[in-house]
Amino acid sequence: MIPVRGHQGARIAVLGLGRSGLSAARALRAGGAEPLCWDDNPAARAAAEAEGFNCTDLAKPDALHAVAALIVSPGIPHLYPVPNPVVAAALAAGIPVDNDIGLFFRSLATPDWQRYDTAPRVVAVTGSNGKSTTAALIHHILTATGRPTQLAGNIGRGVLDIDPPGNGGVVVLELSSYQTDLARALTPDIAVFTNLSPDHLDRHAGKGGYFAAKRRLFAEGGPDRAVIGVDEPEGLFLAGQMAEAPSDDRVIRVSVASKLTGPGWQVFARKGFLAEYRKGKQVGSIDLRAIKGLPGAHNHQNACAAYAVARSLGLAPRVIESAMQSYPGLPHRSQIVAEAGGVTYVNDSKATNVDSAAKALAAFPRIRWICGGLEKEGGLDALRGATGTVAKAYVIGREAAGFALQLDVESEICTDMATAVARAVADAEPGDTVLLAPAAASFDQYDNFEQRGTDFTEQVHKHL
Ligand code: ADP
Repeated sequence: MIPVRGHQGARIAVLGLGRSGLSAARALRAGGAEPLCWDDNPAARAAAEAEGFNCTDLAKPDALHAVAALIVSPGIPHLYPVPNPVVAAALAAGIPVDNDIGLFFRSLATPDWQRYDTAPRVVAVTGSNGKSTTAALIHHILTATGRPTQLAGNIGRGVLDIDPPGNGGVVVLELSSYQTDLARALTPDIAVFTNLSPDHLDRHAGKGGYFAAKRRLFAEGGPDRAVIGVDEPEGLFLAGQMAEAPSDDRVIRVSVASKLTGPGWQVFARKGFLAEYRKGKQVGSIDLRAIKGLPGAHNHQNACAAYAVARSLGLAPRVIESAMQSYPGLPHRSQIVAEAGGVTYVNDSKATNVDSAAKALAAFPRIRWICGGLEKEGGLDALRGATGTVAKAYVIGREAAGFALQLDVESEICTDMATAVARAVADAEPGDTVLLAPAAASFDQYDNFEQRGTDFTEQVHKHL
């Protein structure tokens, strides 16, 4: 755990007692603060009370009396579409609003670091898609090469839950736009921006607000190195803003759309080959087609970003390549769950938005596509033209009929996963991929995307 510094003896309100909220409360207490906790969910409150935390309804008048700061969980709106009432009350009272990420960056460095030969470093990954994969891949490469490293953030372990890093330790964080938007301190040594496509627009009042939230990771702390995907205008703009000149190698540009030229530091992948150029010369290459855990151009983008980070940390191209070979992939992201009769079954339940689903459709040659669920703002238009590899769609979700109507491929309304898998299995021919890539959130039928992916996997195994 990283005890929170700078709040000794202060009363700190903690709103939201999920994973990050509880971990913040514990780290605050360990640092000598007095956490005052609340969650609307009685079960979450009970869990906090069982650990001895004081729970008080923070929405009650005067509840924020003598509170020095309010720590808010990522699921709770802090500004758009409207601030949560407790956040609104804190803002009106001039109480600083922060999150566990802000506490982490303020508390990480300790006087012990003076004894280390190599100071610990923090790599923070943001972007619309590929954050988890890129962060997990960086962590995997470092682990495989014997570097002390820990993975945390949006990926499942609270940032304040990590062990204090030792000599040369590298902390890899996955950060969502909600997290980067609110954190009052954001000082990674290496910051990564994978890509940008519309998502969570309600929480950021549109795409501009969404980009601004991610941009804070670069603008607030001034990282030593910025690894930036430049295949969208926003990434290109950000790279331009971070660099003093075209040759400034504090910025590493990443692309899977074009061969990058120029005097700076760049890593790009074309037709499955990664190339690294520095000062106009090629200094590294990898055949990514041979890496099973990273199929498709979207994963090649993640590979380029992870490669750039590993190079920044001083690893050699060949060492990175051999570590990538053993990357096992993450559950629910381009995850091969079965292969039978020449048919491959892929669980990409994490493809909750249109862009990630379109990328998944481009990664396999002939697809039986299981899609549908709770549609996101912005509609499905961006999927048009991305369905050339689809033999047929099997649509799930409570609004399956409405979803199917918007697709430009042959579709069957299946509504539930069991039917969709049964129909896809019956139709599949050797060479096909049965792919779950919903292009929608899961909450109409499941608690989360993990549950949806697990259902898919179980249904597949029932049939094989
Ligand atoms: P995030 O943490 O940003 O949501 P994940 O690595 O969990 O990213 O991947 C989310 C979804 O996006 C998955 O369906 C995955 O296959 C897809 N994906 C992964 N990398 C990319 C990328 N670079 N561009 C677009 N889609 C991607």
